[in-house]
Amino acid sequence: MDNCIFCEIIAHKIPAQLIYEDAELIAFNDIHPRAKVHFLIIPKKHLVSLAECTEQEQELLGKMLLLAPKLAKQQGLQHGFKTAINTGRAGGQEVWHLHLHIYGDGV
Ligand code: 5GP
Ligand code: ZN
Repeated sequence: MDNCIFCEIIAHKIPAQLIYEDAELIAFNDIHPRAKVHFLIIPKKHLVSLAECTEQEQELLGKMLLLAPKLAKQQGLQHGFKTAINTGRAGGQEVWHLHLHIYGDGV
């Protein structure tokens, strides 16, 4: 997808602090962290937002959610964390490539 900053991160064309990568997903630290730990899990497939997902994405969405606690623990959030998916203009979405925020202070 042209002009998508997250697709460029997936393609390793622009740098990011990667914390996880597999065939379908990638995770990296948010450039403007809102907590001590703040990273994003995104699908490699360019999906605009949660609102554009269909049943076809059911398994992928499940994988994103199940990866969250594993990476959160690795990143020092073993006592809990917050998750967010901002969807659409009114939902505060700024990057038009589906992403799951995971953040917390680890205390
Ligand atoms: P949204 O508001 O769309 O849910 O969140 C987009 C998030 O992506 C923001 O928290 C923002 O800081 C982060 N972000 C935007 N551009 C970049 C970038 O180039 N690199 C990284 N690592 N994070 C980014
Ligand atoms: Zn994209």
